[in-house]
Amino acid sequence: MINLNKSISTIEKLLKENSDASLTYAALECRLAIERICYERLRLAHDYISHDDLKKWQPRDIVQTLIKEVDTKIASTFTLSISKEPLPEGSTEPTLEEYKAQEYVPIGTQVGFNPNKLGKLWNGLANLALHSPIPTNKSTAIPHYGNPDKIRKKVKDTLEEIKKINEGTLMSSGMGKEVSFDCICGSKNKRRLGLLRNGQVVSCINYQCNESFEYVESGMLFARRSFEITCLKCGKLADIPKKIVEKLRTDQQIHFECEGCGEKIYIKFAPMQAQEPK
Ligand SMILES: [Zn+2]
Ligand SMILES: [Zn+2]
Repeated sequence: MINLNKSISTIEKLLKENSDASLTYAALECRLAIERICYERLRLAHDYISHDDLKKWQPRDIVQTLIKEVDTKIASTFTLSISKEPLPEGSTEPTLEEYKAQEYVPIGTQVGFNPNKLGKLWNGLANLALHSPIPTNKSTAIPHYGNPDKIRKKVKDTLEEIKKINEGTLMSSGMGKEVSFDCICGSKNKRRLGLLRNGQVVSCINYQCNESFEYVESGMLFARRSFEITCLKCGKLADIPKKIVEKLRTDQQIHFECEGCGEKIYIKFAPMQAQEPK
């Protein structure tokens, strides 16, 4: 559970000081708090998503990817409760009556947030306080600090949001049916079944692993994505992770040793003349 008390007290102290410099520093502390809120969600979700499958890096975009790929409720407010008594033996999927007959104890509340709103505050704080304006002509003076009234207002708005989120007592990485598979590197990869799309490419959650898989909905299986290449010397087929090839830039070369004869096999990514598409 992320604790934002220190951020909150620092920001409050800086607001009280109320100098141009302290307001600027308060804006920076607000941005750091927003980043911690969003990245903590990501940290908890890392069993379900690889670093390589995140394509955009602003805190807002990260949370939105998590909502789409890991848990639709990752930024929502809800209370989680457990039943006092275990379910009758042998019942796997309880009926509505069985659910209703139980007594529940709340175990915690996740306080949600609107990632777009946090993203706007994050950008607004930087624009007002953390960048100097670009002069439009020779006579424009470049101020040392941004407009203090505007910065104070933005910091106060952000502080309110941070305090609300800090009231949460639980952070969940989601519920719902899971599917899992083991990668050749040994890592167990888990995904929420309800959020998988046919043909979706998922990278192994081990950040040092280059393997990626394509989800095949009809068979509920993950097919390894590889690039096949035949050794010119001994004819043995090599099967290298497709992501290694996809990461190559134009004319960049990589090589590996053939498992059959030890020959070095080189691969390079290069544009070539193509046939008219059929
Ligand atoms: Zn792996
Ligand atoms: Zn060979």
